[in-house]
Amino acid sequence: MSGPILRRYAAAGAWDEVEVRAYKNDDAAPYRDVTRRVLFEHPELACALRYFEVAPGGHTTLERHRHVHAVVIQRGRGRVLVGSRVEAVAPFDLVEVPPLAWHQFRADADAPLGFLCMVNAQRDRPELPDAATLARLREDPAIAAFIRVDGGAATG
Ligand code: MN
Repeated sequence: MSGPILRRYAAAGAWDEVEVRAYKNDDAAPYRDVTRRVLFEHPELACALRYFEVAPGGHTTLERHRHVHAVVIQRGRGRVLVGSRVEAVAPFDLVEVPPLAWHQFRADADAPLGFLCMVNAQRDRPELPDAATLARLREDPAIAAFIRVDGGAATG
């Protein structure tokens, strides 16, 4: 679908005529306090550009998939897990999530974390970690301390 030519930036994490959506439509995927805005999505362009915002203390789903994420941090502060690395991030850091890398984004306790994320328009469904995968990930103490698999909080 194609939208207006210009949508003005209205406020932190908000654009004119861009609705705030639930982070995921999948109720089984655990996450906490994340919203999603689809900024660009056009049939002539084989990708989509979304803006996600994680509220202070919140986190995205721990997941992996074949498709790639190209992420630009826009707002706030947080940390990310990509593969075996846990790193602090701030505007305008770039984060690339390769195929099948386990990943999760967390906002710091006292700041939101807003980021742009480009993905393939046609993409595979995320895979969630099973118990054996979680046990293997937790063999690394930094990853064990980082990952969150709880959810159920409001989406915005
Ligand atoms: Mn993902």
